[in-house]
Amino acid sequence: MRALNDTTPEIMLEDEILSDIELRKMSATNPETMFEGEWDNFLEVEEWEFEDLVKDWSNAVRLNYYYGSQLGWNSQYDKINDLLLPFSGMKNVSLGPEAFAQAVSEWQRSQGFSEADCDGIIGPQTWGKMQPLLEKKSYVPYPTVPVIPGGTSTVPPLTNIFEYNAWHATKIVDAMTSGLLGTNFDSKNQLISIANGQQVKSVNPNSKIVAALPVIYHIMQNAKAENFSDIIIGSFIRDPSNGSCTGHCAGRCIDINYKGGNFETPGSVKMVANILRYLLSLPSQYKKSLGFGLPLQGEFFGKTNLKKFSSVSPSLLKDPDLRVLVPQLGIVFPDNDNHLHIQVNWAS
Ligand SMILES: [Zn+2]
Repeated sequence: MRALNDTTPEIMLEDEILSDIELRKMSATNPETMFEGEWDNFLEVEEWEFEDLVKDWSNAVRLNYYYGSQLGWNSQYDKINDLLLPFSGMKNVSLGPEAFAQAVSEWQRSQGFSEADCDGIIGPQTWGKMQPLLEKKSYVPYPTVPVIPGGTSTVPPLTNIFEYNAWHATKIVDAMTSGLLGTNFDSKNQLISIANGQQVKSVNPNSKIVAALPVIYHIMQNAKAENFSDIIIGSFIRDPSNGSCTGHCAGRCIDINYKGGNFETPGSVKMVANILRYLLSLPSQYKKSLGFGLPLQGEFFGKTNLKKFSSVSPSLLKDPDLRVLVPQLGIVFPDNDNHLHIQVNWAS
């Protein structure tokens, strides 16, 4: 954001910048919709998120060169780059000037700047807000390697479908029995059935990999390592909806509830942030196309009029940790209250 009364070269560019803002406003009004379980649309949603790359960021680029030396932030470019990466859709790169400006704009949005102030420029006001955050630990990159010694080395091969499903289901049931994980909506009985090779609604564990299982297992293992016992495995396999068997019906989704109660509480935010942090170290084969449903409550999306079940920018999440975590994992959409919905797509 630029200081309004600053006598610097950007004053001359005001009209150009305004027209750029208008362009961005126009493009921001047409998000693709994706309903829970509608995976065909998934790639289109991702394309929507990167659509902004084609825009003209040259004004922001010029002013970032100017302010980088004037304000001195170019000496901290690497730290700023790390802070911005989750907002860029990229990983492990040094952002080029245009991608940098665009990521700055997304970051500004995540900080609650007005649309006009999300200009991609680290001017005096933006720098005033960003500089203290560079020292904050919450922006230190989360672990990207599995934290569990031995990992999944004893997992039966995917070709052995029943054994693969039963192995994971058994481990999760054990964690429920020990009290580490809670159970809700019959999830434990469904997992016991899978472990025994019995059909659960439309899911036959003998003939198809149950895709949510390794993801639940990974969450459980990391929760165990941290002795974090607030997680409840809630609604798992459900009947078909609207005649089609996707999402929960196909065993690709899990709903997670919170032992401390509803999702208005700080504890529920902490639980969701923990789970997303665990998922950063999910083996890459399972990490494809993760989708998260979060409620219109508390520090998730808050009480807003956002449309449910359509993916939205993670910058709309109120909690800063969630805003950083979600873009590293997948997409997010407003969902029903009091649960975290996770959908996976690696096995289909
Ligand atoms: Zn769900």
